Amino acid sequence: MAVTADATAVFPRVLDQAYPLVERGEGVWLYDADGRQILDACGGGAMVTSLGHGRHDIVEAAARQAEELPYYYYHQFTNELQERLADRVLEVAAPEMARARFVTGGSEANEMALRLARQYHVDRGEPERWRVISPGQAYHGATFGTLALTGRGTLRHPFEPYLADHLHIPPPDEDGLAALDLALEQAGPETVAAFFCEPVGAAALPAYSPPKSFWMGLEERRDRHGFLVCFDEVATGFGRTGAWFAGRELPLEPDIVTFGKTLGAGYAPLAGLLCREHVYDAVAAESRNFEHGHTWDGAPLFCAIGLAVLDILVEEGLVERVAQRGPRLRVELEAALAECSLVGEVRGRGYLLGVELTEPVAPLVDRIAYEHGLLVTSSHSAPDGYVGDQTLLAPAFTSTDEELAEMVERFAATLSEVEASS
Ligand code: PLP
Repeated sequence: MAVTADATAVFPRVLDQAYPLVERGEGVWLYDADGRQILDACGGGAMVTSLGHGRHDIVEAAARQAEELPYYYYHQFTNELQERLADRVLEVAAPEMARARFVTGGSEANEMALRLARQYHVDRGEPERWRVISPGQAYHGATFGTLALTGRGTLRHPFEPYLADHLHIPPPDEDGLAALDLALEQAGPETVAAFFCEPVGAAALPAYSPPKSFWMGLEERRDRHGFLVCFDEVATGFGRTGAWFAGRELPLEPDIVTFGKTLGAGYAPLAGLLCREHVYDAVAAESRNFEHGHTWDGAPLFCAIGLAVLDILVEEGLVERVAQRGPRLRVELEAALAECSLVGEVRGRGYLLGVELTEPVAPLVDRIAYEHGLLVTSSHSAPDGYVGDQTLLAPAFTSTDEELAEMVERFAATLSEVEASS
């Protein structure tokens, strides 16, 4: 059973698409209303359900907190769960960071990072700094602040009038520093507030990371020009690439990091940012006010779920598991796709895998994958002009070897069928 636009009161995202009705999930399996089993190779479709569906331990932690106190407005009060979650996140996942603030989605987290970067410069007496430079082949969110950070025309249209005039560079390769220098020169480096990027690409350019020379050159330019480096780890944070944060494996430390997805793991809308001490200190020394908030920020219910997720990640050694198993998974995927002419490149970082397609067939790939009982997410990037279409695989960290093998097999069968039909 699939729901079409004329048979629903919901305003669907794509009006010409029929949406299958999914009823329940268990581990990496989803079950639709017709009783079909779908193998979830993409964390619920959006790299979110990294611990699988139907985790009773998380549900129990949520139920306990819901009984006790689900909600408290963080403007007037703090709560023990928020305090504990901030401590735990810094202790377990990011000891080099100084402060945490929680919100309820990745776009909000990135919007907040933009605000913090701006507040930092204003508080330091440099109000002319506001512009952001970012790699254009990226997705940072749906709000107008974050949408302005992507250079993808297909996402920006028709909202350009609302988008700030930031600068974009192509996905940084060996020539990435030349593109960065050009953007700095165009903007005037004294007007630049931040360089904003994913340390490892997620949906828009899965598993791509610029070369080491780019990161080292970026650090040198940050020191020279005084902008901040913000890492969007909404998708990669908390283990997806086999590290607590993907940026910790790079040769530069960001000033601000955002996270989302895995910390709530599909059981709570939970996201946020972390910042280094000197960023906090700038605000502490001047305005002493970091104004940004949404009704549900830091709610005890969501923080209780974040704490349960962190406990599971630690107790089950899942970040280590992803680090160990990820490289082999990429090799297995590459081998299974070796004969397919539609495959340009297979990339992988932990359990974040990307397949570059040589033809603009992204929508077809997702549809045929679904017919094979497989959930993957492709992005139709070709019209944006940076890279070809991409397919993303992001299995749950808890997937068994058999389940991973089944994902690879079903995906190879999918691409063979797409190849035959195109
Ligand atoms: N940043 C990245 C890297 C993402 O992948 C996403 C969502 O896919 C976002 C930001 C936006 O997060 P949200 O959809 O939770 O607002």
